[in-house]
Amino acid sequence: MQDKPQETDRKTPACVAVATTAWRRPDQRSKMSEIERLRHSCAHVMATAIVKLWPDAQFAAGPPVENGFYYDVDLSHRISPADFEKIEAEMKVVIKANQVFEKIVVSRQEALDYAKRGRLAALADRPAPSKFKLDILEGIPEGEPISFFKNGEFIDLCAGPHVMRTGNIGAFKLTHVASTYYKGDEKNPQLQRIYGAAFKNKTELEAYFKMLEEAKKRDHRKIGAEMGLFVMDPEYTGPGLPLWLPKGTVIVEELEKLAKETEFAAGYVRVRTPHLAKEKMYKTSGHLPYYAESMFPPMELIERDTSENSSIHNPQSAISDRYYLKAMNCPHHHRIFAAEPRSYRDLPLRLAEYGTCYRYEQSGELLGLMRVRSLNMNDAHIYCTTEQFASEFNAVNEMYLKYFKVFGLEKYQMRFSTHGKEGLGKKYVDEPDLWIQTENMVRDALKNSGINFVEVANEAAFYGPKIDVQVWSIIGREFTIATNQVDFAVPRRFGLVYKDRDNTEKTPLCIHRAPLGTHERFIGFLIEHYAGNFPLWLAPEQVRVLTIGDDEALVNYAKGIVNELRANMVRVETDFGADKINGKIQKAEVEKVHTMLVIGPRDLQANAVSVRVHGKGNLGVKPRSEAVADLFAAIRERRS
Ligand SMILES: [Zn+2]
Ligand SMILES: [Zn+2]
Repeated sequence: MQDKPQETDRKTPACVAVATTAWRRPDQRSKMSEIERLRHSCAHVMATAIVKLWPDAQFAAGPPVENGFYYDVDLSHRISPADFEKIEAEMKVVIKANQVFEKIVVSRQEALDYAKRGRLAALADRPAPSKFKLDILEGIPEGEPISFFKNGEFIDLCAGPHVMRTGNIGAFKLTHVASTYYKGDEKNPQLQRIYGAAFKNKTELEAYFKMLEEAKKRDHRKIGAEMGLFVMDPEYTGPGLPLWLPKGTVIVEELEKLAKETEFAAGYVRVRTPHLAKEKMYKTSGHLPYYAESMFPPMELIERDTSENSSIHNPQSAISDRYYLKAMNCPHHHRIFAAEPRSYRDLPLRLAEYGTCYRYEQSGELLGLMRVRSLNMNDAHIYCTTEQFASEFNAVNEMYLKYFKVFGLEKYQMRFSTHGKEGLGKKYVDEPDLWIQTENMVRDALKNSGINFVEVANEAAFYGPKIDVQVWSIIGREFTIATNQVDFAVPRRFGLVYKDRDNTEKTPLCIHRAPLGTHERFIGFLIEHYAGNFPLWLAPEQVRVLTIGDDEALVNYAKGIVNELRANMVRVETDFGADKINGKIQKAEVEKVHTMLVIGPRDLQANAVSVRVHGKGNLGVKPRSEAVADLFAAIRERRS
């Protein structure tokens, strides 16, 4: 299973706990990087400014996030971007004052007293208690140290760390307000989440906003609509269920072809599984009940026994079953593993499928192709022995690197998440030895492969350690495109065994991997990465043949070229009309056609073509055979 692979716009790096409780356990505290300290400190400064402007503001949590920070606040005044200038001005005063972030260790009782006096996340005592801070305090385990951080008159409940002084905050800018619920729970009060960006200095802050501006121009929803790649049809098909148009389907199928070739060469075999399964499947896998809220509600199916020896009219013979749309492919693959007796000779067994999954995402969370309810996943499950693990795992990494090269991705990182001891039996399956053993295997494999990785404690999946693969698009925006998981628990739940050399039955390890993620997210990423200017092999319209005028002999010559290209599976269109050639070229450029073959009387004479490439301009006249051979080679080699 890809554990929440959509949760990939990782907005809260080392502060998942902070995001919900505003309290950072001592073991998580040290994990804050320098820039995260700066960003989190900026959240304190923003709260200082807001409570000065609106003294009744009640703050909840204010963690650092990617590129900045936020602070959740309950306030009768509805903060809008129109207020930002005023808030920023107050923040600048605090930064200019260069206040020290002073740590004050307090007893639980003292902390409670402060909260009851409304003194937390405030500049002075207030008539109403600091209600969220009070709640957070109650959630801090007995015996854990409690501390305040004070800058100027502002005191907040916080475990830190921060920068030394407010003056150390480099450059910041408030960006937007979102609404949220306290602790993310709809039953709790609604809060305003005020976001800001913060960086070491002005140059970095400006570069960030420039990147955002570029990202806006490259927005996959905008380009997807302009190019006719996909549509959303909330009224009939449903929200979050994209329809792939012919041009988008071209990209989908090219990616599948790439995956199939690559996986074939790496010894995978392909399988196909239905889109739904009985409740028993997901109870066995453990997705039910734990994952239930991310699944579509079940279908109740009453199966009447119509065989001869029963009566249709006898309600006793009706069997009721619940079916679920599959939210992941693994359980189906596990059943394929179990379908035949397996021996050590069958391992490693690599089952691959571009599997369609359905996940229930709240409508407010849906975002173009980035967050959807139907996903086509580049999935595979590798069943192997412990001895085979390292080489299998390395081969998966090699595959990633190969793909990065194909797509020209230069910056990437593997984020290796391990378990936390405290979570055993709750957040993590209770197998302490297996956790350590598998994590060591993964760590060694990562180290030996020389791949760029970071290790994060206490963020693993339920069944085993996971690796999120983050890539940066050409404009420097980060995406998590894929998640790998090592699973030592679910194969056991499904009773998967193989007969080992010594004739004993053993449980295989399972590696879940999906290097190209889902079509939805990956194509969304590629649209931004290429700004819609896809390389030849991926371009929906690879070639357009344009004639200068509509002379019959010229058009016949052009048709001959089109036929040759089509016979070789090149996606080619034509523009043989009488319109001026400059207009035809302009049109093809706007439509992002990759290569134009322009044909005039002189080309006809010389059995040649003039080649133009989108964004590169005129490449000159080439003999027809050479131009065609170039196209075939560029497509075959998937040149970027
Ligand atoms: Zn899986
Ligand atoms: Zn703090």
